Amino acid sequence: AASSKKKESQASFDIDLVGAEKGKVVTRFPPEPSGFMHIGHAKAAILNEYFARMYDGKLIVRFDDTNPSKEKEEYTEAILEDVKTLGIKPDRITYSSDYFDKMYELAIQMIKEGKAYCDDTPVEKMREERGEGIASARRDRSVEENLKMFEEMKQGTEEGLKNCLRAKISVDDNNKTLRDPVIYRCNLTPHARTGTTWKMYPTYDFCVPIVDSLEGITHALRTIEYRDRNAQYEWMLNALHLRHVNIWDFSRVNFVRTLLSKRKLQWFVDTGRVSGWDDPRFPTVRGVLKRGMSVEGLRQFIISQGPSRNIINLDWSLIWNVNKKVIDPIAPRYTAISDPTPFNLSDDIELHQETRALHKKNPDVGNKQVWFGKNLIISQDDALTLKEGEELTLMDWGNVIVDKIVKDGDRITELQGHLHLEGDFKKTEHKVTWLAQTEKLPVVELVNFDHLIVKDKLEEGDNVEDFLTEQTIFTSEVTADPNVLNLDVGTVIQFERVGYFSVANKDNGVLTLYHVPDGKVVSRYGA
Ligand code: ATP
Ligand code: MG
Ligand code: MG
Repeated sequence: AASSKKKESQASFDIDLVGAEKGKVVTRFPPEPSGFMHIGHAKAAILNEYFARMYDGKLIVRFDDTNPSKEKEEYTEAILEDVKTLGIKPDRITYSSDYFDKMYELAIQMIKEGKAYCDDTPVEKMREERGEGIASARRDRSVEENLKMFEEMKQGTEEGLKNCLRAKISVDDNNKTLRDPVIYRCNLTPHARTGTTWKMYPTYDFCVPIVDSLEGITHALRTIEYRDRNAQYEWMLNALHLRHVNIWDFSRVNFVRTLLSKRKLQWFVDTGRVSGWDDPRFPTVRGVLKRGMSVEGLRQFIISQGPSRNIINLDWSLIWNVNKKVIDPIAPRYTAISDPTPFNLSDDIELHQETRALHKKNPDVGNKQVWFGKNLIISQDDALTLKEGEELTLMDWGNVIVDKIVKDGDRITELQGHLHLEGDFKKTEHKVTWLAQTEKLPVVELVNFDHLIVKDKLEEGDNVEDFLTEQTIFTSEVTADPNVLNLDVGTVIQFERVGYFSVANKDNGVLTLYHVPDGKVVSRYGA
């Protein structure tokens, strides 16, 4: 399997990692534990793992826990579970906070070398100065003064709290990320792992290059919007006399009518607009899996997108289409009848069960017991296509001839007919799904979803609340093969001629299934 995976990689990746040597590559997936994993994080995780395995290297999952105001222990656990669910096996699990002491030392070293200064310019003013390329009034503080102030920051004193530490790179470089970026910020919120030991924390810009270098990362994969920051990343490593790391850019994945930001997703959770981070309308790993995405489908999709650097807003149909190819050959098939209409046969057939394959093309899926009898139901929609005297095919059984159609207005209230099993199913125009009436045919609930927002892509400044989809849950009922009552939650099945469904829950004695988009049906409800 490993070697076939590699072939697949050569087929789908035309870009190799620069300077990659077999056995020596180390990559990392660096989630911030500030929410559950979404599909964008899944892309980052899967690509990092992919390259690590491709080069027989190592993968580090590193929790980038440098902002205690946003982070929680429960998110760390959830991310680890999701990483496992995705089939990713990290060689090491680390935390940026493991390096707080080391980063502190390096910050002191930078101050001593005249490469960093403490600044108490108010945030707004600092932003303005950076934008206009104006030097901060504090830029030329002495080393002694900076060391003293950095200590105040460390202690979280009143004076210290007014300050941040900035790297002394440039006042007015065209690349604005080089305009003296902030590298330490005060924060009195207790940290999940280090408690109140620290009252200041390294910023992303300072932390990532350092930890990448210290951990032996050979290739840091970063989303393309960070390209401007690459120069800054290099600057940090040079300024700190640290080992070089190769940067490889990849594009963010975005989907139409979808928010991929933990902060924005959190808002939906907090305001009760979704049932939780695993809501099937959510683009989280848990959400899409609950909706009926397979891990295999998700992985294949991401690998297929891998090397593309176009930042585009993808349509969900793409990923569901990949998923369909994964689930179709293995999803057991059952019958569901909407708006059941009696079809009574005059033949003498006792109610009994027969064995049928769960999947016509894949015997490995197994068998099911199907009820046969003379009182059947078919859907009203199918009934309306039939004519008196017509020969049709009952799927998985044989042909039958319609003798009489009883109507009440436009509705068909009953069909009568008789079997014609010697008839040729190839010659019938209609092939219909059916169920034999038993004492208790279950009525199950089917749920379809719409996207949470109505706009393809929210722009900067758009308020989410102005673009909420009014109705996102659509429920209908069907009468189903009693066998579905025994399915486990999470199982993905096909209701023949209806679509794919994921068994969602059996609360209150009612079985609920979620419609799994197959990327083909382009309905008003999207997906
Ligand atoms: P969010 O805004 O959702 O919090 P983030 O980038 O701040 O996203 P992190 O936890 O810091 O989230 O990111 C972990 C990794 O996932 C990073 O390598 C980041 O580049 C990557 N990542 C995040 N979103 C996407 C996306 N939409 N597509 C691809 N990679 C992504
Ligand atoms: Mg982040
Ligand atoms: Mg973020």
